[in-house]
Amino acid sequence: SAALDRAESLIRTIADYPEPGILFRDITPLLADAAALRAVIEALIEPFSGQFDVVAGIEARGFLLAGAVATVAEVGLVPIRKAGKLPRPAASVSFTLEYAQATIEAHDDIEPGTRVLLVDDVLATGGTLVAAHELFEVLDGHVIGTAVLMELTTLGGRERVGDVHAVFTA
Ligand code: IMP
Repeated sequence: SAALDRAESLIRTIADYPEPGILFRDITPLLADAAALRAVIEALIEPFSGQFDVVAGIEARGFLLAGAVATVAEVGLVPIRKAGKLPRPAASVSFTLEYAQATIEAHDDIEPGTRVLLVDDVLATGGTLVAAHELFEVLDGHVIGTAVLMELTTLGGRERVGDVHAVFTA
């Protein structure tokens, strides 16, 4: 659609951030535009309509999308946080990023079998979303789908995560 094409044009590419050689996709110009934000939130959830009870967003940019998804889809929200930020983490999964270790955590405020839609801004190597899937296995949440704003197809994330709905690819 025209609205989505315009939204895509609002994703800014920044070379050599946060490290030399990285092409960083910056979604903040898109977030700042009401029509673009609305269009991408609707496109993000469209394949999963009526299929999820909560949306889980990954710190930090995933939170921005998850909040909007929760309101539009009329579901609850579970924050997946970086290590050490939650007072009572029930599950904790460590994984390897390109050049570092990372840990994500979540509370257990969902009933077993709760249908979860996982969202994040960018799928790169897939390490973060694989870890998020493991987190919900520990919590007995049922991940019904994974949605990202942008998939960086050359980094092989889809091969690791499995089926991912991407609004945009680059
Ligand atoms: P992955 O674990 O390698 O797939 O990296 C995905 C995580 O890193 C996501 O949580 C993204 O927010 C972040 N990320 C990786 N590349 C970019 C980018 O180009 N722009 C914004 N976030 C990125």
